[in-house]
Amino acid sequence: WPRRDLLSHRASATPDATALVDADAGDEWTYGAFDRRVDAVMERLETVVADSDSDDRVGVLVETRVAFAEVYFAAMRRGLTIVPLPVRETAAELASKASRTALDAIVCESATEPLALEIADCPVVSVDEPEHDEVGSLQPVTEADAIPVPLERDRTHLLMFTSGTSGEPKIVRLTVGNLVASATASAFRLGVLPEDRWLCCLPMYHMGGLAPIVRSTLYGTTAVIQREFEPRETARVIEEYGITGVSLVPTMCTRLLETGWTPPETLRFVLLGGAPASRELIAQCRERGVPVHPTYGMTETASQVATARPNDAFSHPGTVGQPLGCTDVSIVDEDGELVDAGETGELVVSGPTVTPGYLSSDRTEAAFGERGFHTGDVGYRDADGRLWISNRLDDRIVTGGENVDPGEVIDALRDHEGVVEASVVGLPDGEWGERVAALVVPDPAETLERRSLLAHCDERLAGFKRPKTIGVADALPRTASGTVDRDAVRDRLLEDGT
Ligand code: ATP
Ligand code: MG
Repeated sequence: WPRRDLLSHRASATPDATALVDADAGDEWTYGAFDRRVDAVMERLETVVADSDSDDRVGVLVETRVAFAEVYFAAMRRGLTIVPLPVRETAAELASKASRTALDAIVCESATEPLALEIADCPVVSVDEPEHDEVGSLQPVTEADAIPVPLERDRTHLLMFTSGTSGEPKIVRLTVGNLVASATASAFRLGVLPEDRWLCCLPMYHMGGLAPIVRSTLYGTTAVIQREFEPRETARVIEEYGITGVSLVPTMCTRLLETGWTPPETLRFVLLGGAPASRELIAQCRERGVPVHPTYGMTETASQVATARPNDAFSHPGTVGQPLGCTDVSIVDEDGELVDAGETGELVVSGPTVTPGYLSSDRTEAAFGERGFHTGDVGYRDADGRLWISNRLDDRIVTGGENVDPGEVIDALRDHEGVVEASVVGLPDGEWGERVAALVVPDPAETLERRSLLAHCDERLAGFKRPKTIGVADALPRTASGTVDRDAVRDRLLEDGT
């Protein structure tokens, strides 16, 4: 196991290669320059956490930008634990996250300085020129001789919050070993080349946004950082910087395609993750020649579990492909027994990318079984080993004692030509315990008649599976990472009362 951090290896191997590009400002850093800046930021961090253990926790309240990458590697070098904080959340939500993780310092930027002061009961430092007296500076010093802490494979290096789709966000411990394993496995699936240029435009407080920068540094490729996804701007950056790979959530890809975008020849991977990519989206990508790689992953596995290559995605729309190398996926029934190919069950993952556990040991105990980490996701493996994800275990609806798989109802609804997307949830019901309810997004080009949709469901679904409540929306409410926000769907349907 190497003792030096990932960045120092690159800085000595390829000091003149371009490590980072700030796509908003147009600045570039070589690996050598990036490495020196990280030392300088670390020297500053040292003053904030000087008297404490190397296991101190540093919250990072900084948008997707180069400074985030500098803080990340500086903290790694100093042996600190990094806690990315979702910049878009409210002060109350962030204060709860800060106290649950017992932060020792918070790193902010100009825009988040007031927010950081509001939530912190620890020192606050800014990567920009500080505006308040109480805020320290993390701006790189000119002379740095900070002493790095040796890299340890099993040390908790990151505390990441899950998206909180199913309740209070969980705090996931990720080790350096987890991150290196996931980067390595992903490189084999994608076929990384030294001249690759990755666009990072997702929020860095989610794995999908953080992984590209960590990986690019390990591979020695170039990370191009754009503060925020915006379809036309992002298309321009892809073109201008000769981007070869980008990670997006499916809704972003849809928005890119809506602008009439076709990918330039340089682009080899569009990783789509965080939420299912619809069959319509895959079909559009095929038409436009988008090299789409549908991906299934989660915070607990340092991102990807499985990724499909374009050929597989196009010939089998809806699949997330085979698991990555060194990642075991078992599909089990309610008793934890393996099910046969083609049968649905819960996905259980094991391998070097899997977290050693949550911050809360109770949660860890509940999530790990004999075969590994219980994802809470339901799906199946086909005869050729491809994975298909249908829904979450928690999403099962129990109506009149019968189990309903919302995925099945969603598939039936989406088969109707007037429906683009749908979400299906259980609503409390005096008679049945729960009743099946659907929120559908109609195709703007078709007219969707309730009667025709009901008749369509009658044909395809047993009585207890048919939606008793149907609401209509322009789009499905989603969490920041792109998953359908089922609580919001439920609220919406309860409000509608139809
Ligand atoms: P929480 O665990 O707090 O409920 P979350 O699971 O949404 O939040 P993340 O770790 O960001 O938090 O998301 C991972 C989850 O996203 C997966 O477990 C899965 O449910 C869903 N997901 C990711 N990729 C896909 C995909 N390709 N198809 C279907 N679902 C996916
Ligand atoms: Mg989860």
